[in-house]
Amino acid sequence: MSDNYDVIVIGGGPGGYVAAIRCAQLGLKTACVDKWINKEGAPALGGTCLNVGCIPSKALLESSEKYEEAGHHLDVHGINVAGVSMDLPKMIQRKDKIVSDLTGGIAQLFKANKIEWLQGHGKLLAENKVSVTAHDGTESVFAAKNVIIATGSNPINIPSAQLLDDRIVDNEGALNWETVPARLGVIGAGVIGLEMGSVWRRLGSEVVVLEAMDTFLGAVDQQVAKQAHKQFKQQGLDIKLGARLNNTVVGDNELTLEYSDKDGDQTVTVDRLIVAVGRRPNTDNIADESVGLAMDDRGRVNVNDYLETNIPGVYAIGDVVRGPMLAHKAEEEGVVTAERIAGQQSKMHYDAIPWVIYTNPEIAWAGKTEEQLKEEGVTYKSGTFSFAVNGRAKAMEQASGLVKVLADETTDRILGMHFVGPMASELVGQAVIAMESQNTTEDLARTVFAHPSLSECIHEAAFAADGRAIHGINRRR
Ligand code: FAD
Ligand code: AMP
Repeated sequence: MSDNYDVIVIGGGPGGYVAAIRCAQLGLKTACVDKWINKEGAPALGGTCLNVGCIPSKALLESSEKYEEAGHHLDVHGINVAGVSMDLPKMIQRKDKIVSDLTGGIAQLFKANKIEWLQGHGKLLAENKVSVTAHDGTESVFAAKNVIIATGSNPINIPSAQLLDDRIVDNEGALNWETVPARLGVIGAGVIGLEMGSVWRRLGSEVVVLEAMDTFLGAVDQQVAKQAHKQFKQQGLDIKLGARLNNTVVGDNELTLEYSDKDGDQTVTVDRLIVAVGRRPNTDNIADESVGLAMDDRGRVNVNDYLETNIPGVYAIGDVVRGPMLAHKAEEEGVVTAERIAGQQSKMHYDAIPWVIYTNPEIAWAGKTEEQLKEEGVTYKSGTFSFAVNGRAKAMEQASGLVKVLADETTDRILGMHFVGPMASELVGQAVIAMESQNTTEDLARTVFAHPSLSECIHEAAFAADGRAIHGINRRR
């Protein structure tokens, strides 16, 4: 048996690598096992998020947004651009460079923090030992006082659309096409489906999205979801709700999607297909049976409020445990777990975790939706303010969407904040700070925001919660 460690982390995604760095900062002898092999065939840290998730998708969202803007949205500014064209391989290379810079950066951080990077598949054995099967098949066993499982998640595959070379792909394949499909199908109008559908629509595909649920973005505040839906439609994103894919017929050159909706059986023909029907926790061969690691009813590693599993000294964090499958949630759980192993009393706060959908318009929120508050019987007040009359949004030529603040009717404490519109992904940070600080709408109303700025809409929404928005017509309370 090789070295003894204070902590071995299994998985080097945002949960695992952050946990490893925080452990090392706290003086714990730490190793991180990761098995990722990147597009170039080399081991890489950063997991789903850096390699095929958050980062590459945002790189392509940014590039495709600029292409669309240059082609269609600059004339309004009095800027005439002729002959806009696209170099898609270059766009993909830029994305790949961002990914390799960032994943390489994690490897540097590991070196600087003296964290051992064990390359291969990690498996928890009895007595908190970990076996590592290297990429060449050799196996070593390491002992640790503590083990953190951070093995993340994988895309769900469905029998009605089995992956097929570069024609039927999951999120990973959809990041690497070097030609634009004329007709693109997307299965699932969730975060990933909407983001990837938007990228390819902007680059020229005619996009149809099939979504089995009748409600668009059911987990999102419905006032926000409706605004976004309207704008996606105007952009030409054809989102079919209540449309469940039953089968895909693979032709020589095209794919026929057979689906059913309220009117019966339907078909639509596309050239390529992205399957984005959700992700499942990755628990494949992560623990020997003799360990008895407990799973929950949805196949995730079971943990308590402190990210402890049923095995003493074994923790689990990120996508492989309950809670939202978000990189920043995984990271924060990594920090909390490392600190608890080091003897600190850290605890994860789940009430104000931000969610973002990086489409145009961006959608972002933290805390409760209006639908949740109603269901929970909370008496609340609501203030909304539209970007349509905001000076900065107008200057940006992005004056649509809204900010919505929900607060307890009696205590005025903010319970949720929702955004649809420009820079929602950045504005939601203010919501998180306000909610973590247990602010009221009065606190926001008394705060001075820069003029002209998008943040003024937060100020006004807080005023509106008490029927006193300055630049809006207030409903009588
Ligand atoms: P992962 O990032 O999945 O990392 C797990 C790592 O463990 C991987 O490297 C894997 O190879 C390794 N591993 C697994 N099993 C073993 C084993 N037995 N031994 C060794 N190594 C192992 N989230 C956001 O917050 N914002 C976004 O904008 C966003 N965009 C996304 C876009 C897409 C297209 C996708 C697919 C996801 C996106 N996500 C986003 C979700 C985000 O990527 C995940 O929530 C996040 O990566 C979870 O982190 P994790 O550390 O739990 O797991
Ligand atoms: P998310 O989990 O947010 O990535 O969203 C995945 C979406 O895919 C959900 O809204 C599901 O309702 C949807 N979905 C799952 N299976 C199918 C299917 N066979 N046809 C159409 N939509 C589906």
